Amino acid sequence: SSSTAAAEPLTVMGAGLVGSLLSLYLARRGHPVQVFERRPDPRRTGFLEGRSINLAVSDRAWRALEGVGVADDIRQVGIAMSQRIMHDAKGQLSYQPYGEDGQAIYSVNRGHLNRTLLDLAEARPNVQVRFGQQCLGIDLRRQQLQLLDSESGQEHTEKYTRLFGTDGAFSAVRGALQKTERFDYSQHYLEYGYKELTIEAGPDGSWQLEKNALHIWPRGQYMMIALPNLDGSFNCTLFFPYDGPESFASLQTPAQVTDFFRRVFPDAEPLMPELEREFFEHPTGSLVTVRCFPWKYDDDVLLLGDAAHAIVPFYGQGMNAGFEDCTVLNELLDQHGDAAWPTIFAEFQQQRKPNADAIADLAVYNFVEMRDRVADPRFLLQKKIEAKISAQYPGRWMPLYSQVTFSHTPYAEAWAAGQQQEAIMARLLPHIQQEADYERAEVQELVKQEMAVKG
Ligand code: FAD
Repeated sequence: SSSTAAAEPLTVMGAGLVGSLLSLYLARRGHPVQVFERRPDPRRTGFLEGRSINLAVSDRAWRALEGVGVADDIRQVGIAMSQRIMHDAKGQLSYQPYGEDGQAIYSVNRGHLNRTLLDLAEARPNVQVRFGQQCLGIDLRRQQLQLLDSESGQEHTEKYTRLFGTDGAFSAVRGALQKTERFDYSQHYLEYGYKELTIEAGPDGSWQLEKNALHIWPRGQYMMIALPNLDGSFNCTLFFPYDGPESFASLQTPAQVTDFFRRVFPDAEPLMPELEREFFEHPTGSLVTVRCFPWKYDDDVLLLGDAAHAIVPFYGQGMNAGFEDCTVLNELLDQHGDAAWPTIFAEFQQQRKPNADAIADLAVYNFVEMRDRVADPRFLLQKKIEAKISAQYPGRWMPLYSQVTFSHTPYAEAWAAGQQQEAIMARLLPHIQQEADYERAEVQELVKQEMAVKG
């Protein structure tokens, strides 16, 4: 009966961003939830170390956070970024708004977000989070986890009836599924790594660059970006080839690093007093895309978040996509009831897989846009023209970036519409040399024809 099903304990592996939010969603539906997490409790050890200190939160994540009532609290401690600001090699700036007036993505502290979600989950009587528990393996037939307790150093086993794998890009749960029949799996690394660096706060805690923006230093084959923090500093990330003439391999000494930054990022380098230390102390992160299918094993195990679909960070959508997984799963539970796991797992992966594939492709595509195309005046002109078309044909033209970032349109639909619009722009742009050309009768006629065909 559904009442016994509702009392059945659910197991979540990994209390990162997606696992902590998912636990909260499942607990709110009345399920007992047991969560295992490899790391120690981040609220006892201070900052969650590891990947980027802040991340860009956009509409898909906001909706998922609204579903558990914390969007406003998180927004309070986020910084709105309403535009991209490009810094050229002479330190000159150009500007590109992200959307329409009032639209912005938000820079949010990753550790704060994770701790807030964990606090909320643990405040519920039906959630138990066990830290310092690393999943070593899974016996899928016996429905049994093999765990390592980091405090005692002891291995132990735990039974599960339903297991949600939210243990990230290098998921142990996925590792177990990989050994089953007909499981598709691929991982692809970019030839680029990333390094996290800091632009210091001004003496009085002020921001030394425009606060409400995402800053980009596009340099063709590589780039640096910076997102603002509440304390006045900026978290910078250098995306850089591993090998080649301008690469991590070519920067071996502190002097080489400083010379390079002075030459290519002349307006940023003076704001980075810790550059030499950070460059050699901080690890170089790798950039991987993971695709797999199925995301479920019978109706016992389901993968969500990076465990199912790890993507490169250039669209700022990895967490957003993982949070959207939680929204979709919750909708399916509403639709089919909390006992219909076989249907829910099957529909979940069928609905989400094409969208995960689309955002994986979009994320790689956006790397080229950010490191190269944003530096091209023709590209900025194209964005202005697109905004004009969008205003002239309300509801019929939404720029690709806006569909991905400021809408809930499934990623695969957004990508298809974006490609169609890109083809139209490629036909229009030869007729447009400057913004004012858009008003010319010839151009207006072309736009009209394109829109008639576009439907
Ligand atoms: P994770 O956050 O990786 O959490 C997995 C959890 O599982 C961790 O707590 C881990 O300790 C635990 N775990 C792992 N293995 C085990 C095990 N064997 N046993 C038990 N527990 C285990 N996304 C955005 O939306 N916007 C951004 O701006 C953005 N910027 C990014 C910048 C960078 C440089 C990178 C690398 C990623 C960025 N992302 C961004 C992506 C985002 O970080 C991920 O998509 C998101 O963290 C995925 O959440 P998750 O919970 O699935 O995985």
